[in-house]
Amino acid sequence: MNIIETNLNFGNLTKRSRTVRAILHHSAGSKASAEDIHRWHLANGWAGAGYHFLVRKDGSVYRLRPEWAVGAHASGSNSDSIGICFEGNFMTESMPTAQKQAGKELVAWVKKKYGFTKVQAHRDVQATGCPGTNFPFAEIANGSTGTVTPTPPTSGNTYTVQKGDTLTAIAKKYNTTVDALAKASGITDPNKIHVGQTIVIKGAAEKPKPTKPNGNTGTNPIIRDGQIHARNFAMPGLGADGIRGPRTKEAGIRVLQQAMNRDYGAGLALDGIWGRKSEKALGRHTVRRGEKQYMVTALQILLMLKGYYCNGVDGHFGAGCEKAVRQYQADHGLTVDGIAGYNTFKSLIQ
Ligand SMILES: [Zn+2]
Repeated sequence: MNIIETNLNFGNLTKRSRTVRAILHHSAGSKASAEDIHRWHLANGWAGAGYHFLVRKDGSVYRLRPEWAVGAHASGSNSDSIGICFEGNFMTESMPTAQKQAGKELVAWVKKKYGFTKVQAHRDVQATGCPGTNFPFAEIANGSTGTVTPTPPTSGNTYTVQKGDTLTAIAKKYNTTVDALAKASGITDPNKIHVGQTIVIKGAAEKPKPTKPNGNTGTNPIIRDGQIHARNFAMPGLGADGIRGPRTKEAGIRVLQQAMNRDYGAGLALDGIWGRKSEKALGRHTVRRGEKQYMVTALQILLMLKGYYCNGVDGHFGAGCEKAVRQYQADHGLTVDGIAGYNTFKSLIQ
């Protein structure tokens, strides 16, 4: 499964505190793109598209409203649910196989991600015919199918397929292999990619890119900036080549050691080796939104060293930082709570 990221601009959104169910809808109109829905819902005076996801007839899945936000799709039931819209009018139409398959995968993925089992039709919670009498509800709500892959990262590590692209050409461009890209992106048939699809580059690179005399393609500018921050914060002499190699990994550990020394007086040697003393110093410490300390500085640098951008390195845990943490957690199978604790820090220094 692949989720296509969109660039829709939303008004004020509210963070959803609980996610215990998914609610399924149809668009009622036979044709509805992500932009169409966004425009229609803005015209309602809403902050933008009210659903979190759109499943189109061709089986492509688009992100609409950010997943963390309260939706606007089922009055009275928005505060604890994910809203999924299926393109089409299933009062009269029947659902194409590709769309049904994609819907099953998306629903299975959302259930697994948030750990709930409850899936409802819009008509279950409001007086409406939505999503239509022909909507294959039981199949989509209960069917677990295929391989479910996490949402690809959105920041600097992905490539959006353009017209005329092949996976072979993209692999060549990023100095990796078709197999590695397919694996990282959850693609089952490398000959079937489509315009607008997100290809995950990060984690796909199998061979380190040799530095060429002119041009540094294949290096990640976020990692490079992170290396410069890590050098200044905890590891003088660290090179900034934009490639996450053994020295960069060592730098990440040093950055965390430095922060624990400053915030907690841990007295650790900046040796870049994660030993018992470092483990004990980290303990159950967490950092979260609103905090300002060196552990936040470390978090921001560690995210960059993994290719995640969080609006700079300032030691202040703001919205950009929380967004990056959530994205990182989602991409790495961690609990998505936007709080950096033991598991998140340990994953970041791996
Ligand atoms: Zn509906």
